[in-house]
Amino acid sequence: MNVLLAGGAGYIGSHTCVELIEAGHSVVVADNYSNSCPEAIARVEEITGASVKLYEADVCDPGAVEKIFSENDIDAVIHFAGLKAVGESCEKPLLYYRNNIDSTLTLLEAMKRHNVTRFIFSSSATVYGTPKEVPLVETMPTGTPTNPYGWTKLMMEQILTDTQRANPGMSIVILRYFNPIGAHKSGRIGEDPNGIPNNLMPFITQVAAGRLPQLGIFGDDYPTRDGTGVRDYIHVVDLAKGHVKAIDYSADHTGAEIVNLGTGTGYSVLEIVKAFERVNNIKIPYVIKPRRAGDIAECFANAEKAEKVLGWKAELGMDEMCYDSWNWQSHNLNGYK
Ligand code: NAD
Ligand code: UDP
Repeated sequence: MNVLLAGGAGYIGSHTCVELIEAGHSVVVADNYSNSCPEAIARVEEITGASVKLYEADVCDPGAVEKIFSENDIDAVIHFAGLKAVGESCEKPLLYYRNNIDSTLTLLEAMKRHNVTRFIFSSSATVYGTPKEVPLVETMPTGTPTNPYGWTKLMMEQILTDTQRANPGMSIVILRYFNPIGAHKSGRIGEDPNGIPNNLMPFITQVAAGRLPQLGIFGDDYPTRDGTGVRDYIHVVDLAKGHVKAIDYSADHTGAEIVNLGTGTGYSVLEIVKAFERVNNIKIPYVIKPRRAGDIAECFANAEKAEKVLGWKAELGMDEMCYDSWNWQSHNLNGYK
């Protein structure tokens, strides 16, 4: 299978490249490097020993996308190419709506011209909004996102569902990711955020590396077991393997399927800090700060549908997530730079 990965040089995309290649697929990557760099793909080639066809391209650009489809026999598309910083999306909503929605439309239009019918989409647990109950099941109604980033995901789920309905021969798999952390076991690829990280694990690894003085924990008065926020952290390699399963599944499937990719288990911020300290034998100084605007208390998946429909289940635990996150950061103190 020849798979186009839009945004394939990013954190989840680069790990998915490795898993697809190791499962025997070939990959074509299109990325504009707005949040990544070609070095990530050079390292994918180093890990796999395979060569990756790489296009520096903005997938909102119909001409650039047409060129990729004309030059390659694409069987399926995985669409990772989105802007994802929640805070920035509140400051620059038009940028987020333009980039995230336009990229989806441009890819779908090119697929139609070239009779490509299989599309895997990176959605997010954020579409559930503030959960009324956990674990979150795919059949639960979606909520009201608290920021433009979340709205782009919800809008794209609607666009994809409508597109599939009008094109019944299409297979669309909407993957709702929970909280990916960790890195490839080689320590050669991993998460490399620009500036000060917004997300918990890259913040912790930068404190461990001495790049940041201490972690701020956003709130210890949530109605959770220790008062700190609970999330469903999933190892990025497990997440990447979920995409391989989704690609296999889409071969004999038509319809629009929504699937959670999570472990089904929630961990609190303090539990993550303690696990990281124990596994890596490094102290993480922290202070309790006020709650972060827009945060919810608790969010974790019901992961049964992924197992039933895709035959996929997360295999790696919190210790591997903490070990691999630090293995990547400690061997790449400045990320890919
Ligand atoms: P990332 O920023 O590391 O990867 C996204 C990639 O897309 C980057 O390489 C970026 O340069 C590229 N890109 C963005 N706009 C583009 C465009 N117009 N044309 C070409 N390339 C473009 O992010 P990630 O963590 O790998 O996330 C991948 C996808 O998964 C995103 O859509 C994100 O919203 C979604 N997601 C991520 C998380 C998470 O916690 N990481 C959670 C839920 C959903
Ligand atoms: N968090 C924190 N300090 C940080 C970053 C995050 O306490 O510097 C908390 C946050 O409030 C949430 C959890 O860690 O409870 C996960 O946050 P992240 O931003 O990684 O993911 P998301 O909020 O998108 O689930």
